[in-house]
Amino acid sequence: MKKHNFNAGPCILPRVAIENTAKAVLELNGIGMSLLEISHRSKEFQAIMDEAVALFKEVLEIPEGYQVLFLGGGASLQFCMVPFNFMNKKAAYLETGVWAKKAIKEAKLFGEVAVVGSSSDKNFTYIPKGWTVPADADYFHITTNNTIYGTEIREDFDCPVPLIADMSSDILSRPVDVSKYAMIYGGAQKNAGPAGVTFVIVREDVLGKVERVIPTMLDYRTHIKEGSMFNTPPCVNIFTMKETLKWVKEMGGVKKMAELDNAKADLLYNAIDNSRMFVGAAEKDARSIMNICFVMKEEYKDKEDAFMEFAKARGMVGIKGHRSVGGFRASTYNALPIESVQALVDCMSEFEKENL
Ligand SMILES: *Cc1c(COP(=O)(O)O)cnc(C)c1O
Repeated sequence: MKKHNFNAGPCILPRVAIENTAKAVLELNGIGMSLLEISHRSKEFQAIMDEAVALFKEVLEIPEGYQVLFLGGGASLQFCMVPFNFMNKKAAYLETGVWAKKAIKEAKLFGEVAVVGSSSDKNFTYIPKGWTVPADADYFHITTNNTIYGTEIREDFDCPVPLIADMSSDILSRPVDVSKYAMIYGGAQKNAGPAGVTFVIVREDVLGKVERVIPTMLDYRTHIKEGSMFNTPPCVNIFTMKETLKWVKEMGGVKKMAELDNAKADLLYNAIDNSRMFVGAAEKDARSIMNICFVMKEEYKDKEDAFMEFAKARGMVGIKGHRSVGGFRASTYNALPIESVQALVDCMSEFEKENL
């Protein structure tokens, strides 16, 4: 049976990226060796790294003065590397979910954290508004897409201090005005590639401003200087990410991705809003187009398990909501075809017909 892959991350990837990775794992470009077997210092791998960086810059229209790095450690290591490299005394954070909270926890190890807005009072179902960033903060940190709660900040705003964004789960889903940010980072495993590689886009002039000594591996300048090869990079993951970026470009770039992603989100949100049984989990003006969270209305709550089974039997994968929200979450990342969203919508209406 055809599977409809709504996994939240790692998640669905473009088929062509997987096929090209499979070929390269068997033999890279007729060189008589596998991608797994070559040195990261070889000219073959250097070309892969260079192409991945160039594609990232091209697809996101990254301006001059920014560096693109591919690191290990996941977005979670960035929660500590960011304050290590940028915080002298104080930083501002927007608390919009579990990932933001984890970033805040690490930042507190380095100095004062001003939480300028939080939606924790309503289980992160909205994006706080009306906050102001203290002028003496070394930077302001936001999470643009809250993967667990299905809320998203989809515009790039001006900020009086360097703006740093965790874009793990919505990078490449829209054009971004990179010039508004001092740094953008994320784990690749949601829209950019497989697990095991972390992307960092950093403006060089914001580095080198803290007093503290930074361990070599945690200093962005190390990785800039060595072109993300201070140590052995995750070679295969970078290859697959490069193939994913190539696919994004060939599909028509991030503008096209935004169009397709919006169409998928509209289809599913409309079905949710017109349903008598399901209801959206996040407030409408904060809804994410990447992770669509919904639950059953109070009077049908006891049918959630039955729907899960019903959907599973029809090929739906990964639609269980995160334990802190419950219900369902459909992640509709770039590589997910709209046909899969239609299949889920059909499944919901069929279930409703049978159970109302
Ligand atoms: C998944 C996710 C993370 C964690 O990423 P890791 O690479 O597993 O450390 C951080 N932030 C956001 C927004 C995420 O979706």
